[in-house]
Amino acid sequence: MPDLQPGINNGQPVIIVGAGHSGVAVAAGLRTRGWVGGILLLDGEKETPYERPPLSKELLKSGAPDESTVLRKEKFYQDKRIERLAGITAEAIDRQSRTVVLSDGSRRGYDRLVVATGSRARPLTVPGSGLPGVHALRTREDALDLKRALVAGTRVAIIGAGYIGLEVAAAAAARGCKVTVLELQDRVMSRVTSEPVSRFFEQLHEQNGIRFVFGAAVTAIEGQRRAERVVTADGTVHPADVVLAGIGVLPNQEVATEAGLECRDGILVDGEGRTSDSAIYATGDVTRFASPVDGTSQRLECIQNAQAQADRVAAHITGQQPAEPEIPWFWTVQHGVRLQTAGVRHPDDDVIVRGTPAVGKFAVIYLRDGRLAAVDTVAGLADFRPAKKLIAAGALIDPALAADPRIPLTDTIPNDPSLTDADLVSARI
Ligand SMILES: Cc1cc2nc3c(=O)[nH]c(=O)nc-3n(C[C@H](O)[C@H](O)[C@H](O)COP(=O)(O)OP(=O)(O)OC[C@H]3O[C@@H](n4cnc5c(N)ncnc54)[C@H](O)[C@@H]3O)c2cc1C
Repeated sequence: MPDLQPGINNGQPVIIVGAGHSGVAVAAGLRTRGWVGGILLLDGEKETPYERPPLSKELLKSGAPDESTVLRKEKFYQDKRIERLAGITAEAIDRQSRTVVLSDGSRRGYDRLVVATGSRARPLTVPGSGLPGVHALRTREDALDLKRALVAGTRVAIIGAGYIGLEVAAAAAARGCKVTVLELQDRVMSRVTSEPVSRFFEQLHEQNGIRFVFGAAVTAIEGQRRAERVVTADGTVHPADVVLAGIGVLPNQEVATEAGLECRDGILVDGEGRTSDSAIYATGDVTRFASPVDGTSQRLECIQNAQAQADRVAAHITGQQPAEPEIPWFWTVQHGVRLQTAGVRHPDDDVIVRGTPAVGKFAVIYLRDGRLAAVDTVAGLADFRPAKKLIAAGALIDPALAADPRIPLTDTIPNDPSLTDADLVSARI
């Protein structure tokens, strides 16, 4: 329990560093939960906080408006008395005096501090990475720059076949660009999904004119005044007018590290979002924590986690019960086909395909020690909700029954004594 009551807070506000999905959700959650004290939201970006998922999807479409979907309208911040400082970053945290040093030189005291600084695109470091025409995608400004560059006929090289690289590949192909995806591994999305799903999406992209080069280690980007070609370790030259690096993200943890908070590829937090300093919380992409399902140390980069952790932080600050922990889930849309995932798959999980990928709609379930650990649904969500409940309940699954897509997932449980009737009923809802 926090040692301070809502509204008392020693006269100092809750300061939230970062106004992305998680920071804004903490601010909103504090007010919903009755926090009457001050809230100061330090927004490193200048515009009204906005959603990131559309930046690699809807916003890049031909004819789509350049406006971003805002997380909350400006009026919300005024009505809820959330002081938002746009374009101002936290430069340092003085834990002794509980103050934050801001980029405008001022200092602000806090009662509780929430670090919600998110992550940034992992920079490409090969020679030529700084040439004009080489893009990354994290902010709205990045997305608009990229959108302007994706002119029909342009040769686009995408480095990395993860979610963002593939979403941009789909958008670029739809805009009439000639797209090559260069991937170090031997299949797409290898970090997050299994081979059947990878192969399905590879074919989908190829049908839409996209070319893949696997096992491709990029060694340089070359060009006179701007990017003209990408070179890979085997000496192959891939002509390109536009290059997008989609090679993962790095947590923005520096301000926490310098303040002496425990960090290890992410700020370490407990189930309540508390860092190694009890007055400081962290939430969203920047955090690393133990999975409530199996204790694995993880850093999740998804909206669901950004919002769920924010709620837990707001609940803890106000001394209230958080919502039940939710199984993490993710989505991507490529060429109009939606892949939605619940749970976090491990590479050594047993893989069971439900349905026929060739018909364009199927699911893949992942069993760990016989229990449902994760599910991928492609172009259909029938298995998604029951799977989330069964994963949370740690349900044993009969692999033979599960391979038959006509059998509902909830009917593939072999007399699992660990599963209560309530688990089964809620899984069927
Ligand atoms: C193009 C794109 C597409 C995506 N698509 C999906 C999707 O389909 N589904 C999904 O689940 N997830 C998706 N994601 C991931 C999702 O957007 C992130 O998980 C989510 O934004 C994390 O929220 P956050 O608040 O932790 O961090 P962010 O949204 O990154 O926000 C952090 C904010 O903190 C600011 N900041 C950093 N340091 C400081 C400082 N010192 N002082 C003040 N401010 C600071 C940053 O500028 C940023 O505005 C996508 C991400 C991108 C980039």
